Amino acid sequence: MQIKENYQLKSLNTFGVEARAKYFCELNSIEETQEFLKSELFLNNKFLLLGGGSNILFTQDFDGVVLKINYKGKDIISADENHVVIKAFAGETWDDFVNYCTFNNWGGVENLTSIPGNVGTCPVQNIGAYGAEVKDTIISVEVLRIEDGALLSFKNEECKFGYRNSIFKNEAKNKYIITAVIFRLDKHPKLNTTYGAVNEELEKMYLTPSIQNISKAIAVMRNNKLPNPKVNGNAGSFFKNPIISKEHLEKLLLKYPRIRYFPSEDEIKLAMLQYITNKHWF
Ligand SMILES: Cc1cc2nc3c(=O)[nH]c(=O)nc-3n(C[C@H](O)[C@H](O)[C@H](O)COP(=O)(O)OP(=O)(O)OC[C@H]3O[C@@H](n4cnc5c(N)ncnc54)[C@H](O)[C@@H]3O)c2cc1C
Repeated sequence: MQIKENYQLKSLNTFGVEARAKYFCELNSIEETQEFLKSELFLNNKFLLLGGGSNILFTQDFDGVVLKINYKGKDIISADENHVVIKAFAGETWDDFVNYCTFNNWGGVENLTSIPGNVGTCPVQNIGAYGAEVKDTIISVEVLRIEDGALLSFKNEECKFGYRNSIFKNEAKNKYIITAVIFRLDKHPKLNTTYGAVNEELEKMYLTPSIQNISKAIAVMRNNKLPNPKVNGNAGSFFKNPIISKEHLEKLLLKYPRIRYFPSEDEIKLAMLQYITNKHWF
């Protein structure tokens, strides 16, 4: 393991912000990390965990040690005619994992195509897009407890997943390093093409709905719609769509009948963008 000093982080964050880490260390294995957690350098400095750097904004140099989590690999744990259970390590690139699943026709993550970042960070804010959230495919999240280097596992329900939220953004923040995520993918999934313009894009591309075609359509849509961090530094959306009650929506619809919303079981998600693009509605 090599410790670098005064290390430039510009290429490691999608904003492309110039910021330096007092110390920088790439961790390639869990054993190496357990050793490092006992070191003087770690114990005497504050630390920051870094994945793909696509949800982080450095406002100044980091006066501590930045730990880049690079554990690689994917293992199939079990499979039957309906499901496959896979463990993917934290340093795998999220979109490579999505491509691996869609290539094998394993459904569940196809709507999450082209989201930047790593597998190990997907549970942190419960990444979501086009009507899907990663929590619906996660069985458990494996972690290393920073305090004593113990390897533990959080079951899905223990992760307290919510809309762009989880325990890892709250009470578990900086207490655990996510080492791997266990996913359950579906060989015969219920495809979700109703959110956003997925159906329209499939039609435009002359594609019928399938795991691979949804992934292709979403890749095209995102590529057309979202700024490319390599050209314009960014970290995706800054806002969350407002969640309101059904009663609240009914009142809003009387006044603004064209309002865009996405219903779920007991609450409604409003499309935030309409506040910006259609000012006359509000
Ligand atoms: C163009 C663009 C589009 C995007 N679109 C979406 C989208 O559609 N949906 C969506 O949900 N998000 C989206 N995002 C946000 C981002 O891609 C996700 O939040 C992603 O999961 C961040 O992963 P990362 O590896 O880059 O995390 P980082 O930015 O490296 O880290 C994020 C947080 O996790 C912590 N962390 C890092 N590694 C670990 C670890 N191993 N264990 C515990 N904590 C850790 C960090 O300290 C930090 O607090 C987008 C970003 C960009 C730039």
